[in-house]
Amino acid sequence: MARLGSWIEPFPEGIYVRPADAWIDPSQPKAKALVTHGHADHARGGHSEVWATAETLAIMGVRYGDQNGHAVAYGERIRLGEVDVSFVPAGHVLGSAQIVLEHGGERIVVSGDYKRREDPTCAPFEPVPCDIFITEATFGLPVFRHPDTGSEIDRLLHRLHSDPSRCVLVGAYALGKAQRVITELRRRGHDRPIYYHGAVERLCNLYEELGVPLGEMRHTAGAKKEDMAGHIVIAPPSALNDRWSRRLPDPVTAMASGWMRIRQRARQSNIELPLIISDHADWDELTCTIRELAPREVWITHGREEALKHWCMIHQIKARELNLVGYEDEDD
Ligand SMILES: [Zn+2]
Ligand SMILES: [Zn+2]
Repeated sequence: MARLGSWIEPFPEGIYVRPADAWIDPSQPKAKALVTHGHADHARGGHSEVWATAETLAIMGVRYGDQNGHAVAYGERIRLGEVDVSFVPAGHVLGSAQIVLEHGGERIVVSGDYKRREDPTCAPFEPVPCDIFITEATFGLPVFRHPDTGSEIDRLLHRLHSDPSRCVLVGAYALGKAQRVITELRRRGHDRPIYYHGAVERLCNLYEELGVPLGEMRHTAGAKKEDMAGHIVIAPPSALNDRWSRRLPDPVTAMASGWMRIRQRARQSNIELPLIISDHADWDELTCTIRELAPREVWITHGREEALKHWCMIHQIKARELNLVGYEDEDD
């Protein structure tokens, strides 16, 4: 009998599904690409044909121009070559999907990036029992346990209200994290206008078009310094220590990222208010998911593979590192 999953092959540039002659999240241009979600390390431009959710195709359209895309709805089943393929919510960012592959009586789930906690901007992760679960391990160490999101948002609001002469500048990845922070703020009753840096504008507009309301947003470019006092300003992390921030009224610099668990990382980037808000599964979410799915094998794409591999071994699940390259996960 052939080895489990012998019909898919990991290459450094992505996962090749032989009987479909298609690649998953390839980092090089390919004839046929299945794309889990819109982050730049998973969705690249230049493929001849792309299969993804309509939301992911729209995000790719904003970044790379129109795609020769085939939109696949969550739960819809398509046939590619000799493989049945479906896309299931991954709970990572708007449109993010796990890709479920069925062939020769085996089911393989490629999760892409995912998380298990609630996110008002996207559909929740849907567990699909499988023979092989292919997972990320960005936060695959027991030290990574993300706190409750609501309490992090409360810390942000508390800081904002404690000094109305200043603004709080929040660094957040432009796709997903920025919109999630805004939506979580709205849920906690923050209804003042939120200012944004130009680099997050297009994706905020797209989220709204796709049905995620963000409330009143204002561009920093047209605003006077004093108007922004007592307000939240959202910007990509790269803008935090940039000349651009001089236009803001004495900003408290915050950053929303799973990496803020590491104090040294916050200090190095001059972050005064680290907020541990992540779009990736933490250690408990990774291990609970594997326990829940009970796959025969776990394949780990990227991140801190060692500890998770060890955990699988202890729990009598065969685990393997795929050593894919090019997944940066600054989209944390
Ligand atoms: Zn991602
Ligand atoms: Zn990623």
